Order: sequence, then structure tokens, then C-alpha cells
Amino acid sequence: MSSALDVGRPKTNPSAAPSSTTSPTSSSSSSSIQNYRPRAAILGAGISGLSASISLRRAGWSCTIFERSLFSNETGAAITLPPNASLCLSRWGFDFNKAEPVPNWSIRFARADTLEVVKSEDYKGFGEDLGVGGEKGHRGSWGVHRADLHWGLRELVGAQRVKGAISKSKKKTRETEGKVDGGHGTKRVVDGGPVRIELGREVVGLDCEEGAIEFRDGTKLEGWDLVVVADGAHSKLLPSILPSSSTPSSYQAQPTSRSIYRFLLPLTPSSPFLTNPSLRPHFLPHSQGGPLPGFLSWHDPIKDVLWVSYPCRGGRVLNNAIVHDTPPQPSGEAGESSPPGRGWSTAVGKEEVLKVLSGFHGAVRALVDLAYGEEGEEKEGEENGRGTGEKGIKVHHLFKRPALNSFVRGKAVVIGDAAHVMMPTHAAGGAIAIESAATMEVLFRDFPSDPPQLEEFVKRRLQLFDQLRIPRCNLTMLASNAGPKWLNVEGVEEEARRYYKGPLPHKDTLPWTKEFREVLFCYDAFEAAEEEVRKEEEAVGAASRSEAMGSELKAGNM
Ligand SMILES: Cc1cc2nc3c(=O)[nH]c(=O)nc-3n(C[C@H](O)[C@H](O)[C@H](O)COP(=O)(O)OP(=O)(O)OC[C@H]3O[C@@H](n4cnc5c(N)ncnc54)[C@H](O)[C@@H]3O)c2cc1C
Repeated sequence: MSSALDVGRPKTNPSAAPSSTTSPTSSSSSSSIQNYRPRAAILGAGISGLSASISLRRAGWSCTIFERSLFSNETGAAITLPPNASLCLSRWGFDFNKAEPVPNWSIRFARADTLEVVKSEDYKGFGEDLGVGGEKGHRGSWGVHRADLHWGLRELVGAQRVKGAISKSKKKTRETEGKVDGGHGTKRVVDGGPVRIELGREVVGLDCEEGAIEFRDGTKLEGWDLVVVADGAHSKLLPSILPSSSTPSSYQAQPTSRSIYRFLLPLTPSSPFLTNPSLRPHFLPHSQGGPLPGFLSWHDPIKDVLWVSYPCRGGRVLNNAIVHDTPPQPSGEAGESSPPGRGWSTAVGKEEVLKVLSGFHGAVRALVDLAYGEEGEEKEGEENGRGTGEKGIKVHHLFKRPALNSFVRGKAVVIGDAAHVMMPTHAAGGAIAIESAATMEVLFRDFPSDPPQLEEFVKRRLQLFDQLRIPRCNLTMLASNAGPKWLNVEGVEEEARRYYKGPLPHKDTLPWTKEFREVLFCYDAFEAAEEEVRKEEEAVGAASRSEAMGSELKAGNM
């Protein structure tokens, strides 16, 4: 079954009605070369795929997303957006007011047994000065409900905000030039038009050199100028990008011994957060004398259970994530092919959760009770229609994967969890994917309109993508997968240094404290890519000047 959202391309577009083998470029055969708009296929519509299509659209590309699912479920959890991600969203015109993120301005480390805070750091305003463009007040560090982030990205995918704007009736066909809201103002931005999203379209094959993709129903689409693989941690398409000598253990996500419980709770004046004297000091709003909003991290060192919570959705919802050792599974449920909680939505029983939390202060039981709730109570997200209707606690098994040496091949590039599978230790996987997408916006704009030159351009820019993204993504992944002790874990620094040459924090720096934040989260992907493009253009200019001089000399004209 397949359905399409926001059909932004002409009806003759073969991707709308694929025959057994069709070319996405054939619809432009009647257009002149000058009007040729390069086409990108984006495989997967998670944070990475949506962000990539926003970027490529801003770079003037025509984009089609192929998504396996029908978008029927949003995940009932929040995500932290550090400044490296929020500055991208801000420049893209993401609607922060609608998404209602809550600032992340503090971290408090507390004992699980007594709930006593043993260390804390406030960082109000962190990262707000990073980057340019967008609204300054939207940069910085945030906690946002995943459903709200996804909705905001989907809105940008379908309705890029461009100055000198397109009227609603014309927006599907008219090319629009102008300065995108929140842009640098120095670069011409050509809007590639609303992105086409095809749901229920599982891609099962990829030919990177030809830019061809194949669907589960046997149909094929060939001739894409760029294919962005964004099909998540358990990517089936990644092997097509890797060298043929790669073994499954080098690219398959491997289950770790850790899992995470996740659940959202309503944060209201009558909830146990504020009525229970042991919990109240942790959750009292800042305006009423409580701490600055941000991470609260309760740790039980004996069982190594870490409960991290932070507010989202205007402060009305509390996001909870409890990282713990995966309890032994009843026989037949574990195993590489079907690890427990491979998705996001495996329900877990209250008894199991309470067992894992046996080393915690008794007051936390009230929060677990609240998560399971009573029949007939309002379900999560009902207040704004963007929820999941979920009740109870879900478990998600955590996976890792070794670092890759390259994310590109031929006309294809892999981004997001498909490129780097990381533990949520530092709340960084989605943010680094948004960075990668922003990098693509800079690398793929100002493309040549002549197809052979375009092919060469794409190849060169994909090399730049690797140069920029391998160090950043692999550093972030290795840091996340090593756990909170990061550089103190044997071999991790050496491995990070294979890919990354920049500064590292001191070995004993705790997650999200100053030195740590500056290395992982103070990165402007636009600026870094612009610098790399400038260097490349200078090198190309110098090479062609010396070639011209050589020809002149040969011809005896000098
Ligand atoms: C517990 C937890 C907490 C986290 N917290 C944070 C945080 O606070 N901050 C942060 O930045 N990151 C966080 N992350 C990481 C972040 O959630 C991920 O990095 C991010 O969601 C990955 O997005 P993605 O688009 O790459 O992959 P996915 O979200 O997995 O999306 C992949 C998409 O591809 C589709 N698809 C799959 N196969 C195919 C196919 N063959 N054809 C077509 N479509 C296909 C899927 O249906 C899906 O829609 C956390 C992760 C976990 C597990």
C-alpha cells in the first residue's frame, strides 16, 4: 500500500506512477538544460530524512522522500536539541512557538537512594550566540517532544518559508528565489519546491553508481542525481554504500547489554512531582523557586541505573528515560535476530520496572504508578493532538556499531542513525544528523545545470561531505558509546583520534558540563561547510589558472 503527501511535481513525474523501470529525470526532458533541477531521492522520513530534504530543497533540489511506514505512530518521548542542532532548525525557519520546546539550561546529578543533588551546573543562555541567521532566541539548548519536532520538520518539508512568498495556490509549481527566512542573507537561495513524500514505499535495493533504487514491489527508479540513505539504525541499504569486502559485524547494529525505559508524564500542580515533599524540590518550576529547567540525573551506582528526566512541551510534560542493564530475557526472546525492544514501542510490565528501580528512593514509585495510570485517564498528547495515545512504560534496547571510514559512494550518501548508531548517553544522535543535513545544504547549492558537470560536482561535494562529517559524527558516536566516563574508557581516545584531530575535553569532564558541551555541541555546520567549499573553490580556481598558463606557455604565447 502506498500513499503520497503533498505532490509537488508534475503528474507526468514517473515516481508518482512507477513502471517497472523509470527515470526520475525523464520528466525534465522537454525543459532546457538551464532549467534542469537536480533530483534527490531520500530514503526514510525520520529526523535525518526530513532534515536532508529541507536542506536540499533550500539548495534548489527537487526532492522525493520514500518512507516505508505510513507515519501512523509518533514516539512518546522527548529529544534534547543542543545548539549545534537548534541553530540549523532556527535557520530553516522551524516553528519553535508551535513546538513549544523548553530550554535546557542546567544539569543536576543526584543520588538515586536519597535523591540528594551532589553536583550541578547552570548554563542559561548556552549556545545562543552560536551561528548566525534565524531568530537568536531560538538558538541554544532545548528539550522538545519528538512528535512536535517531527511535525515541525514535516511542515518545513512541505512549506518552505521563502521571502517574496509564493501564494498557496501557486506554491506547488512556481520556482521561488529569495532569501530564506533566517538565512545568512549572503547566499542566493533557490527553493526546490515542496518535497514529495511517498509513504508505504520500502526501498530494498540501491545502485550507488547509477543512482537507482528498487522497491519491495519490484519497481525501480533510476537516474537520481543524489540518493540520501536515512533508513535508521537497522539500515538494510547501508551495505550498498560500503566496500564489498565489509563484513556484517562491521555495519550491523549490535545489541548492547543496556536498555532504556521511556515514558512521558503530565507535569501539573496536582501531580506527585509537586505534592510529594521528596520530589517537589526537583520539579518545582523555576518561576516558583525551583531549579533552571534542564536535565535531572538520578544515578544508582550499584546497579548502574541512570534515570534522566527533563521537561518538554511548554513545561507541561516530563520526559523520562531510565538506562539500565537489560534483565535476562525469557528463553526464545533474546538473540541477535530479534533483540528485545528493537523498536521504540515494546511495552514493559510495572513489576520489572520496579525491580530495576529497587535501589531508588521510595518516592519515585509514585512516578511509576502515574506512568501506568488509571483506565479512562487522558492519554499522552491528547491535549494538542500530536501525541501517541500511549500509556505505560516502553522499553528500547540500545545498540552500537563500529565507526565507518566513509559515508559516501557514487551518487549516494548515508546520514543519521544509518551512518552512526549511538547510545543516547549524550543526547546527540539526532542533533548530529541535523548537522549532517545542514552540511548538505551548503555543499549542494550553486550546482551546475549541465548534467555531466553536475555528476562531477556531486562526486566532489560528497568527498567534502566525508571530510566534514566523518570526524564530527565518529567523535560523537564514540563518545556516546563509551558511556559517561568517555575518555577514561580504555582505547576510546585513541580510536577517536583516528578520525578527529580537534580539541577534546579533560578526561574527567562529566557529560554536559562546560568543557564537554563546548566540544560536542558548539559547532556551526553551515560555517564549517562554507569554509570547506571556499577552500575547494580556491583550489579549483588555482588549478585551472595554472592549467591555462601551461597551455599558453606551450603555445608560445607567453
Ligand atoms: C532512547 C533514545 C534517546 C535519544 N535521545 C536523543 C536526544 O536527546 N537528542 C538527540 O539528538 N538524539 C537522541 N537520540 C538519537 C535520535 O533519536 C536518533 O539519532 C534519530 O531519531 C535518528 O533519526 P533517523 O532519521 O536517522 O532514523 P529513524 O528515526 O530510525 O528513521 C528512519 C526512517 O526510515 C524508514 N525506513 C527504514 N527502512 C526503510 C526502507 N528500506 N525504505 C524506506 N524507508 C525506510 C523508517 O520507517 C523510519 O521512518 C536518542 C535515541 C534513543 C534511542
